[in-house]
Amino acid sequence: MMCPVCGGAELRPVLDIAQVPVFCNQLCDTPQEALAVARGDMSIRHCAGCHHLFNAAFDSKLVEYSPKYENTLHCSGQFQRYAGALTGELAERYDLAKRCVVEVGCGNGQFLRDLCAASGAHGIGFDPSYQGPTGAVSDNVVIHRQRLARALVPGEPALICCRHCLEHVDEPVPFLRSLGSEVAPHTRVFFEVPNALYTVRDGGIWDILYEHCGYFTAGSLRVAFQRAGFEADDVAVVFAGQFLTLHGHVSSALSTGPTLNDQVSEGAVVAEFADLYARKTQTYRERLAREREAGRRVAIWGGGTKGVMFLNTVGTGDEVVVDINPKKQGKFVAGTGQPIVAPKALSELRPDLVVVMNPVYRDEIASTLGELGLTPELLEA
Ligand SMILES: [Zn+2]
Repeated sequence: MMCPVCGGAELRPVLDIAQVPVFCNQLCDTPQEALAVARGDMSIRHCAGCHHLFNAAFDSKLVEYSPKYENTLHCSGQFQRYAGALTGELAERYDLAKRCVVEVGCGNGQFLRDLCAASGAHGIGFDPSYQGPTGAVSDNVVIHRQRLARALVPGEPALICCRHCLEHVDEPVPFLRSLGSEVAPHTRVFFEVPNALYTVRDGGIWDILYEHCGYFTAGSLRVAFQRAGFEADDVAVVFAGQFLTLHGHVSSALSTGPTLNDQVSEGAVVAEFADLYARKTQTYRERLAREREAGRRVAIWGGGTKGVMFLNTVGTGDEVVVDINPKKQGKFVAGTGQPIVAPKALSELRPDLVVVMNPVYRDEIASTLGELGLTPELLEA
């Protein structure tokens, strides 16, 4: 076993979780279907060389992306504001007007459409889990329901974006190398991934899920790109610490090999993470059990990956899940089977406790509850 980013062999065990749903974002039509989803084991390892974390038990054969996969974050106002600022920044930084932008793993194409609208660029998106048929989705955006194929991109794109995709790839360096071999010297690349340091340092433990076989730190993200023949122009921490972004381009010079900044602290926080994970899951498990015994109704706000992993790790089965994404409402949580409802359903359910899966959305959630005339206790997970 070697680190998939730097090839290092000094790997430390961090965490083992048995039999979690392979797809947190799978839409399940019935509780039975939800309980019968495919499962896989997680053995999270930490590389002492580049501080990458990855699931050493990951089996890519279990993971096949299809149109049943739904993970848009664009329903939240907070996320839209972040994405809006990002499209403006990219449009300006890369002077995209009348030029071509490619997005790899474009999902429903919302970001690409917004980026093209903000910049005057034309866009070509690729995603095997895209829910519509291949074709134009607006005047200036085409989406292909497949992986990136260079033959479908005329000329040299100004920018290739790839957001929340690389953490799903079990061999990121060959993936990036193959992308790099198709990228012209003047094409810029922009990547965004979850920030593993947020997960391990700030207790974002519900972000550890089977679909994410790799967990990048700023250091390991740089190393992955360097080893694949890119130069990273800058790596930044964004979205309240939860994401990492990387701007880069293919390198004309031969890489001199991985260089690491001072990351002693990254190694230290990872070492403490197993304890943090155990303590935190125990706390919530006990809390939900007490709520159930007291007959208090619990709603989990957030039917995305965080909510699904929370319920699969500590849920009692009695909870109801709230999600503002209409595509998730009426469905059931993968692995545990709780129903997913719209916020307005809480008017009747009148929960005593609402567990906020992502603290970034706390104000937004409190205000929605207020509009419904509800004042339940809020608990940040
Ligand atoms: Zn490594």
